[in-house]
Amino acid sequence: LNELFCSLPTTIFEVMSKLAMEHNSVNLGQGFPDAEGPETMKRIASSTMYDFHNQYPSLLGVPELRQAVARHSEANQGIPVDWATETLVTVGATEGLAACFLGLINPGDEVIMFDPMYDSYVSMARRAGAVIVPVRLRLPDFSVPLDELAAAVTPRTKMIMINSPHNPSGKVFTLTELEAIAELCIRHDLIALCDEVYEHLVFGGAAHISLRSLPDMKNRCIRLGSAGKTFSFTAWKVGWMTGPPRLLAPVIKAHQFLVFTVPSSLQRAVAHGLDNEPDFYRSLGPSLEVKRRYLAEQLAGLGFGVLPSHGAYFVIADVSKFLRPGEDDAAFAKRLTVEGGVTTIPVSGFYVGPQPPTHLVRFCYCKEDAKLAAAVERLGAYL
Ligand code: PMP
Ligand code: GLN
Repeated sequence: LNELFCSLPTTIFEVMSKLAMEHNSVNLGQGFPDAEGPETMKRIASSTMYDFHNQYPSLLGVPELRQAVARHSEANQGIPVDWATETLVTVGATEGLAACFLGLINPGDEVIMFDPMYDSYVSMARRAGAVIVPVRLRLPDFSVPLDELAAAVTPRTKMIMINSPHNPSGKVFTLTELEAIAELCIRHDLIALCDEVYEHLVFGGAAHISLRSLPDMKNRCIRLGSAGKTFSFTAWKVGWMTGPPRLLAPVIKAHQFLVFTVPSSLQRAVAHGLDNEPDFYRSLGPSLEVKRRYLAEQLAGLGFGVLPSHGAYFVIADVSKFLRPGEDDAAFAKRLTVEGGVTTIPVSGFYVGPQPPTHLVRFCYCKEDAKLAAAVERLGAYL
């Protein structure tokens, strides 16, 4: 009977976090911050539950949040958005992504995705019938191979998916790369799905530029955001998207049957945050930069090869030096959790194409300084 069921895998985040709990390991695997978002937002989330009706809000989202999302887009990326026709509130970016695949993809459509990638893309896009065409980013800085990207477009290509700042690498796409992607989208009439959940988590001289802000791209891009990343409230699962009405219309159809709507008290709290707490999300980049520098220096001192990163809250390390004969990144990450007491994510799990690198692990560093120090100490003692 099992053969009749779908073959969706268990997400690597669940696998590694479960193992970390079982072995009381310091979890630098799954990405979630130790420090939470603004107090005012928590108060509004709870007080609005008493002050407003607790029945289904509009399937598009509450107007306050949709208006705030439009203002946020214009203020931070200079992209004007008509809140009434160009916004949708989702259950985290995760549901937004699933709704995009279900609404925009027909079986057999090709979707170009950069390898490695966040794990939900491939599973959900394939369930929607997409044929994933992976284009592998080049190590060590995960740059886009522009020739290979251009060669990946076929008459069946419908969409290019881009995630900047990038999970798992922390890469921030450059203007040159974005312009090349935009040129391909325009030349071949492609949709661009832009996962920009880490838009405010940039540092080290890098700047986040949205593909949607480039000339002639506004009407072919959907751009996704998340309160999990912008306000460090990963448990709230409030996300949003902006895009042209012609692309949002089919996505909204999928959204109505996936979840219909999103808890309204949380939406109102996020609306408040977007309008009134820019200092919070603008402080994330500088504070993460300090944590990244600390962890990167310590890892390098222990013999890890630290790859460059300028955004999100991940850093990838080359663990070749520590691999035992025949051991790959997954086996190493497991051993490190069980025996060393530190949890990471093996990077091969983020690849779709053949022969992924098997010497890389991802560390998440949006953690308390004491936790980072404890992890470093355990690594030093074990390796
Ligand atoms: N996209 C990327 C690249 C992510 O890292 C995450 C966070 N896990 C998501 C989407 C999902 O965000 P959310 O928690 O808002 O569903
Ligand atoms: N986005 C987080 C990460 O990459 C985890 C999200 C999840 O567990 N689904 O680690």
